[in-house]
Amino acid sequence: MIDTESTATPSVVERRPRRTVAERQAFLEADARVEEAQPDQVKCRGCQNWVRLSTKRQYELQRWYRHQDYCKATTYVPLVKPVHLN
Ligand SMILES: [Zn+2]
Repeated sequence: MIDTESTATPSVVERRPRRTVAERQAFLEADARVEEAQPDQVKCRGCQNWVRLSTKRQYELQRWYRHQDYCKATTYVPLVKPVHLN
């Protein structure tokens, strides 16, 4: 909800939505692929690896998103072939 457009900064265009630390934390904790969320690292449920986040911003989501790109464990569901010996 934006109701204050009084600040005159015409040259600066804020394109990225600003999220607070609390919002990013809530986002990560709500993510089913996150096993454990900490301010500077997130544990991936898929591959059980700790994904390092930014050391400057708490709960920085960017690196977690990047991890999703190359972490196959979160999307790959191993098919267990039933073994029928009869
Ligand atoms: Zn992973």
